[in-house]
Amino acid sequence: MQGTPVWLASVSRHSPLTGGRLSTQIWSSETMQQSIALLRRVIGPAGNASRERVFRMQITACLHRALTPDEIDRLPPYFHAAEPIDLAGGPVEILYETEPGLPSTRPCHNPDRYRLDQQSSMLWMPLDCGQCPPCLARAALHEERDAATGAAPKYLQQQIDRALSDGKRGH
Ligand SMILES: [Zn+2]
Repeated sequence: MQGTPVWLASVSRHSPLTGGRLSTQIWSSETMQQSIALLRRVIGPAGNASRERVFRMQITACLHRALTPDEIDRLPPYFHAAEPIDLAGGPVEILYETEPGLPSTRPCHNPDRYRLDQQSSMLWMPLDCGQCPPCLARAALHEERDAATGAAPKYLQQQIDRALSDGKRGH
């Protein structure tokens, strides 16, 4: 949303047979439409409905809606003073948006799949390939963040790399 804070709502679905999470990849179009309608009911009148993005991850369908200028004014001072400390990863697929997002909001063109559930190969989180335009845009923002906050200290990087490597071996 071009840097505007957003409201976020997410919904997941469970199989009535197994109780397990159902990948958005196999939701029917009716289930997806009902889910998007539910997200809009949850957000209700909050935010600017003319500035929305609906996207899916493998487990959730999500709605971003930009805050209105009045809502931004009512955020506490610490929100405005805080440095950004983290960046969400890319979505799996943009389903709908009222305005084109920045390159950093686009899905990776060739993501590695970090498997989230050993029972289902469809439940995974995309890991940036680091090479395509959206990944390069996100990487640039990470560098900016790290310079501003000292985030991702070097002593943790080895553990992060190992965890990601273990996850990749799972698929
Ligand atoms: Zn990529």
